[in-house]
Amino acid sequence: MTDLVLAARSFAETRHAGQLRKDAEGSPYFIHLEEVSALTERFGGDETAICAAWLHDTVEDCPPTSVEEIAAAFGAEVASVVAELTDDKALPKAERKRMQIVNAVKKSPRACLVKVADKSSNCRSVLETPPSDWSDARRLEYIDWSERVVSGLAHCPPEALDHFEALVIRARREI
Ligand code: NDP
Ligand code: ZN
Repeated sequence: MTDLVLAARSFAETRHAGQLRKDAEGSPYFIHLEEVSALTERFGGDETAICAAWLHDTVEDCPPTSVEEIAAAFGAEVASVVAELTDDKALPKAERKRMQIVNAVKKSPRACLVKVADKSSNCRSVLETPPSDWSDARRLEYIDWSERVVSGLAHCPPEALDHFEALVIRARREI
């Protein structure tokens, strides 16, 4: 791991400290970031993409973290990818979900890679360790929406798409 990636991991660990995921076990947020960064590296991400993978939820979920702060600490390129991966929280939830589909087509190659890694992590969790209060219909709805987002990403490495699509197929067979 390069010094910049180590710094991004440490920054994310501190900012997400105490936050839990929605799975029944309530796993630490850090586990999701580890999975997204590992997938980003596995499918060819460079240092900038791997840093953005560690940081992808910090601006959205760890106020007052800002894109400007990420730029000052990790550089403009990392910050720009994180910005691409940050939903506009001023919008209602359903509109944010719709905008992810609309905006997918505009994403840079690095943002595409982290996005497909993020959706792979979430869909794997929805398949294997779902939130306890989600019905099967809601789990399948999440898989369908994720597939719509990923299908709009124009610059995904084929291996990353294959990995995601295998999860979707498994989810539709097993849920
Ligand atoms: P979301 O569908 O937005 O929750 C999923 C998001 O939570 C993920 O994108 C992920 O984002 C994060 N997350 C945290 N932990 C997990 C995990 N273990 N597995 C997967 N994702 C995880 O649900 P909300 O609770 O915010 O509800 C909003 C939407 O849910 C509504 O707009 C509606 O479409 C749908 N809904 C459907 C219902 C149904 O019964 N069909 C009922 C209620 C809502 P990240 O990686 O960014 O953290
Ligand atoms: Zn995420």
